[in-house]
Amino acid sequence: MLQIKDYIDIVGANALDELAILARYLQGKRIQNINSTAVGGGVAEILNRMLPLLRELGVDARWDVIRGDERFFSITKKMHNALHGVSEQLSDDDLEYFLEVNRRNAADMDLDFDIHFIHDPQPIGLVRERPRNGGHWLWRCHIDFTDPDPRVWEFLKGLIEKHDAAVFSAPAFARPLPIRQVLISPSIDPLSDKNKDLPEEFIASVFEKYGIDRQRPVVCQISRFDYLKDPLGVIEAYRMAKEHVDCQLVLAGGGAVDDPEGMQVLSEVRQSAESDPDIFVLFLPPASDLEINALQRGSTVVLQKSLKEGFGLTVAEALWKAKPVIASAVGGIQLQITHKHSGILTRSVEGTAFWIKQLLNEPEYASKLGLHGREHIKNNYLIFRHLRDYLLLFLSVFETGDIVHFA
Ligand code: UDP
Repeated sequence: MLQIKDYIDIVGANALDELAILARYLQGKRIQNINSTAVGGGVAEILNRMLPLLRELGVDARWDVIRGDERFFSITKKMHNALHGVSEQLSDDDLEYFLEVNRRNAADMDLDFDIHFIHDPQPIGLVRERPRNGGHWLWRCHIDFTDPDPRVWEFLKGLIEKHDAAVFSAPAFARPLPIRQVLISPSIDPLSDKNKDLPEEFIASVFEKYGIDRQRPVVCQISRFDYLKDPLGVIEAYRMAKEHVDCQLVLAGGGAVDDPEGMQVLSEVRQSAESDPDIFVLFLPPASDLEINALQRGSTVVLQKSLKEGFGLTVAEALWKAKPVIASAVGGIQLQITHKHSGILTRSVEGTAFWIKQLLNEPEYASKLGLHGREHIKNNYLIFRHLRDYLLLFLSVFETGDIVHFA
């Protein structure tokens, strides 16, 4: 198991000492993270990396997952889409059911903590238990809030306001709220299986396993099969680019417990790709971190053609590997890529196709973009910065007299 000291070479001893000092002030405080899936998607990815490190720092932190049935997750997926600006039908009954499932979860859960750190909308109804359970409540939003559906936003706002503070991933998502708003961007763990260096033979073996030819250019997008990741748009862009330059396309991803649309999207993607032997649609099981790492490292260009994106960990993952990335100019992706410096930002299928062709034809330029991208991720989006931000956030909710002081 990785330990804090393993990160010294990347971040330096001082930064790690600072984390240890901040963590000491939280001694005796119990912190509970709550989300809606243990596997799949960026939130689970981050919590999986964060929790062991927080614990090693001596923070009494835990992670609970709410339970829901098919109806609940179909409602929360619609809510998720609506908050990303997609038109969805959500009835008053649906919203009432959403609250009811949250109520049932609250009845079954231990909510006796100093800080309840709620991730995303699915468990946000738990805050209605606040008067009974006390403690501090923080809401962490991982969604692209540029253009939310007004009705769903109003519903959610009533619940967000019951928290001490709301945490957003990018400045553009801040909204008028009567509570404190905090900006904390997500991060990747450079030593996780998803991101650590890999031997060339392993990368080659993964490409061989799937029959992908590394002698020819490979363009890939790693994402859950979700309309908001626009996999069909990726296929269109690949086809346009392929009229000018030889390449293969890899669309790889798995599902998430809280995303019931995945299978439908996967089947549409398979249908659209079926006549082309150069498109590889890979449905990956949850424990595929090493394979994803290898696919990112072995690809010539990485795409992230999302229509909305809270942050886009996959962008940070690819940039950390010094890959040239072409991604949509949406949400948190714009924090990670400066156009034509640390990657390419596009706004259409045609733009994406144009840049696939350009980068495949200009490998030196492409590799410069990748190197700048890696530097940017190293300076801003690694897990230590994120841990420090969270520790400071946790400390900020207590009155000065509430926290332990050390001589
Ligand atoms: N991911 C994964 N398996 C998959 C697809 C994605 O482990 O089949 C990971 C991906 O590498 C990244 C996270 O899930 O770490 C997705 O986070 P992101 O912010 O890109 O998107 P989200 O799924 O949260 O919308």
